[in-house]
Amino acid sequence: MPPSFKFARPTLSANRLLFLVAAYLVVFANARFWGIVFAASDAGGGWHRLGVTLAVAAALLAITLLMLLPLGVRWVLKPGLVLVLVLAAGAAHFIGDFGAVIDRHALASVYETDAREAGEWLSLRMFLALGLLGALPALAVCWVKVEWQGFWRETFARAKLAVIALLLLGAAALTFGKDVASLVRNHMELRHIANPFALLAAQLSYMDHARNDNRPMESIGTDAVRGTALPAGQRPVVLVLVVGESARAASMDLNGYDRATGAPLRGLPIVNFAQVKSCGTNTATSVPCMFSGLGRKDYDDGRVKRRENLLDVLQRGGYDVLWLDNNTGSKGLAKRVREQHVGKTASAQYCNEEGCYDEALLEHLDTLLPTIQRDTVIVVHLLGSHGPAYYARYPERFAAFKPECRTNELQRCSDLQIRNTYDNTILYTSHVLAGIARRLGDARGLPENAPIACLATKPAEQCPPTPVAPPSAPAPAFDAAMLYVSDHGESLGEHGLYLHGAPYAIAPSEQTHVPMLFWTSETFAARRKLDTACLRGRADAPLSHDHFFHSVLGLADVTTRERRDELDFFATCIR
Ligand SMILES: [Zn+2]
Repeated sequence: MPPSFKFARPTLSANRLLFLVAAYLVVFANARFWGIVFAASDAGGGWHRLGVTLAVAAALLAITLLMLLPLGVRWVLKPGLVLVLVLAAGAAHFIGDFGAVIDRHALASVYETDAREAGEWLSLRMFLALGLLGALPALAVCWVKVEWQGFWRETFARAKLAVIALLLLGAAALTFGKDVASLVRNHMELRHIANPFALLAAQLSYMDHARNDNRPMESIGTDAVRGTALPAGQRPVVLVLVVGESARAASMDLNGYDRATGAPLRGLPIVNFAQVKSCGTNTATSVPCMFSGLGRKDYDDGRVKRRENLLDVLQRGGYDVLWLDNNTGSKGLAKRVREQHVGKTASAQYCNEEGCYDEALLEHLDTLLPTIQRDTVIVVHLLGSHGPAYYARYPERFAAFKPECRTNELQRCSDLQIRNTYDNTILYTSHVLAGIARRLGDARGLPENAPIACLATKPAEQCPPTPVAPPSAPAPAFDAAMLYVSDHGESLGEHGLYLHGAPYAIAPSEQTHVPMLFWTSETFAARRKLDTACLRGRADAPLSHDHFFHSVLGLADVTTRERRDELDFFATCIR
């Protein structure tokens, strides 16, 4: 009698099955992801490279496990895993064959396609990918027998799996976290092709946007009018609001830092607000938050997308409003006012493939300011200290602190090199701020061709003579003030952290304590009845981005029920 064959169905616990599917996805559904990781980690030696690759694998496996975890319920597990496998196979096909990234725009084009367009995507390769990569393992999932235990035992098992995933993440972060972070930063596409994580992230982002896009636009400050202190129709008022980027209070000599990073501001009557907290730890939170007037506690990034902001209220209060950008744009804040990117018009000397130096903004102001006839608010959005390519933010003659870190792979530099390079960006930002004040009519700062790098590191007598300032241009035909505040701070290796973006609740002060400076022309202060000595006396008070909206309205003398005087730091010093 021939031996009877019987394919015994393998029996697995739900945890084992989840783990196997996660591992399968990490290895087989991420061809392009691994291609980029292998190519990028080429730089280090063999062992280092192996370590980074293993850390990336551990992190991706952990994230995939955490994603699949909610499927670990009887009746849900198998259909859920089958769906994930087929969707991931489809995503892998588009990522691999078309170099696609999976973001909300990609999903939108899938959802909003029609039959004809969809038909054009069908190909033999697509069916092969779906079959081999998706359907085959999906059949295997259906075939295995899952051994279910009681509810509490299963719950405990899922918790165990979650702990394993978190331990994997922790191990990756503690060993090669710095390299992995740098890799993801320098290859932004990685997070949009990490399969199937990118699918889930894109779906959530798609739903979030769909929800907000259907909301009506919320108007604010519809009652805004100009007060009696700065009536419109007189000599124009020009308020310059300088915003960003990644500058931290701890690196400003005005706040006690032992390097003269503020050398270019010497001689200017600057008011330094020493205790200012940011709203967020990244640009995308802080900048809309400052302009929203909602305050950090009530800030909601979905809500502000469909809500007017400070710029709309200023416009209603009779100001021309211009957003002048050298960063990544106003992100819709300036939708109803004017917005210009200096990169489009800047001369070649200020720009390279890494972007434009902030002096391009000064060049733009040189042509713009003489044409101003009406009360105007100009938001100047700096590139400032935007990392990790700090070295690309300033021209050579501002390299006061050396040796620099001349790569965006921070892990290849010492902490001292990183700090030197970052401090050079702060020195350069000070130069740009002094340049704005000069253009608004203040000739008291150092002339622009002063040997600034030398003056920041040595006593003046050891530096080449400062050229005599050229005869000042005719006094401007407007009254002006400038308020500078950074959007968030930056970590430079303190507590092992770099850059910014830490969750606010646990963010170190380096990321949330930001510089804020105020300069006013004497004519503006006189007209606004602003007592700058009083302001200087109160400049150590604890403030935050929450004060920005209300203080700017106060400075601009725009009255509305949205404005709260207790959050206007100018209010107590107006006579
Ligand atoms: Zn920023």
